[in-house]
Amino acid sequence: MARDSAIEWTDHTFNPWWGCAAVSPACDHCYAEALAKRFGYRTWGAKAPRRFFGDAHWSEPLKWNAQAVKSGMRMRVFCASMADVFEKRVELDVHRERLWELIKDTPALDWLLLTKRPQLIAERLPCDWGAGYVNVWLGTTVENQMEATRRLPHLLGVPAAVHFVSAEPLLSGVDLRQWLDPRLGRRLGWVIAGGESGPRARPSDPSWFRDLRDQCLGSNVPFHFKQWGNWAPNADGQATRHSKAGAGRALDGRTWDQLPMVAALAQ
Ligand code: SF4
Repeated sequence: MARDSAIEWTDHTFNPWWGCAAVSPACDHCYAEALAKRFGYRTWGAKAPRRFFGDAHWSEPLKWNAQAVKSGMRMRVFCASMADVFEKRVELDVHRERLWELIKDTPALDWLLLTKRPQLIAERLPCDWGAGYVNVWLGTTVENQMEATRRLPHLLGVPAAVHFVSAEPLLSGVDLRQWLDPRLGRRLGWVIAGGESGPRARPSDPSWFRDLRDQCLGSNVPFHFKQWGNWAPNADGQATRHSKAGAGRALDGRTWDQLPMVAALAQ
């Protein structure tokens, strides 16, 4: 099945619009803003306009859905790499409505909606959300403990097929155990982790990733190690600067590409 995303954990990316505004330390070196600037779009900041798309762009997921149906293999779509789906701006509402309709029209795709604004999810869900659309996974970024504490109750307060965390760029050690343990209520179903890349990439301590992996293993929650980024451990285990490709994505001698069971069952 053709993939058109370089992001390891998805098959496709879809952006209902481009543009956003920074909300937390994870945004400090926003790659999407830099990419948009490279293409000549000044779409970042609370007052900047957003970039919108026409029908050809919006029809792409319908083609992916047809491919998925033909192959009998579900596909994952990351939404959004160049925006935040739940950003609060009135002109985005009509595009968000269109997105919900598109999601309903593409049942062979699993839509991964990743946000740094989980406090805004509940009031922006469609009225027929109910227990959650079966093909929508809701996720939030956790770069440090403060954001875990601030964001995860909002994320887990909304029903969804899967709740997930993207711990990238990981900027400190984080303890997620209270949100991984099924005995404590609704829990996270997937954790993705990775280090930062780019000229100003901040180092992550390798022990933070090991600890997160072990927390997931201890609670039987799938763990995906996306990348080291530009900092990876040397022979002494200390983080040193590398090229992103040179740093790779092996953690303690192997890759971690675990996925929620729902994906396997739905294929
Ligand atoms: S929320 Fe995401 S897209 Fe928006 S500024 Fe932060 S990193 Fe960039």
